[in-house]
Amino acid sequence: MTAAQVVAQLKKFGIPFKEYKDWKNHNRNHKGKWGPVHGLMVHHTGSDAKDQRELLYAGTAALPGPLCHFGLAQDGTIHLVGWGRANHAGSGDDDVLEAVIDEKPLPADDESNTDGNARFYGVEIWYSGSHEMSDAQYATLRLLAAAICDFHDWEEGSVIGHGEWGSPGKWDPGYKPGKMMDMDKVRSDIKVTLSKGKPAEPKPSVPGKPSTPTKPKPVAPAFPGRYYFRPGAKNQYVTTLGKQLVKKGYGKFYKQGPGPQWTAVDRAAVKAFQLAHKELKNDADGYPGPLTWKMLFS
Ligand SMILES: [Zn+2]
Repeated sequence: MTAAQVVAQLKKFGIPFKEYKDWKNHNRNHKGKWGPVHGLMVHHTGSDAKDQRELLYAGTAALPGPLCHFGLAQDGTIHLVGWGRANHAGSGDDDVLEAVIDEKPLPADDESNTDGNARFYGVEIWYSGSHEMSDAQYATLRLLAAAICDFHDWEEGSVIGHGEWGSPGKWDPGYKPGKMMDMDKVRSDIKVTLSKGKPAEPKPSVPGKPSTPTKPKPVAPAFPGRYYFRPGAKNQYVTTLGKQLVKKGYGKFYKQGPGPQWTAVDRAAVKAFQLAHKELKNDADGYPGPLTWKMLFS
């Protein structure tokens, strides 16, 4: 991914992010290889400090920055601190790298013979590792991993913890002192995020068939994915959804709007629509899924 592509991908998945300094051009490519990249490595910073941008950007005398690509703050915001080779992965096990490439279960990490900084994107989560990360951090981690896997067409097997890599003494991401999280559970959560929220692929065009100059008759838009309809989401699909709800007779919910910000009003209108349809009412939580979407636009 280029820096522009990662920004587009963060937006596509509705991930809150901020850009720090000259992150797009900040890397250690002059010190070694960068790419091909095969996965995302998850770290804790070992500190609960509220602002860890400068540390991750500049690093230390012994370990110059950038120390990762993504800093993940306690509130779930991603801070972009570098793009290219970064000092986060150290040396690890070539057998582990092979397994990541093949997306197979990881073998024991008993060697340190392979340069990880060339091979992994890195996310540093701002917490000590001696306790659990915040819910917001975990939610964003799942989305970030899904966004990266979506771009590369990877599955959850491309996500590993630093503690699985083979750098001696590492146990990140942790949940209590010295203890790494159950990364298989993390991966299975990422798998759920990926399968639920993967934005719909555009329909392939029919080969050999020229595009017609006449205006095609409007078709129902494809369900874009659940990512776009969650607390804090703001995007065009929320507007599209709201306008369709108004069309279908649920305008009474909207004293204002509909607009791009996902609100309790949108949720109430969706829920009312779901409750009014027997196929939907058993799962009427106010969040649109593919079936709700299909019925709303049919
Ligand atoms: Zn680490």
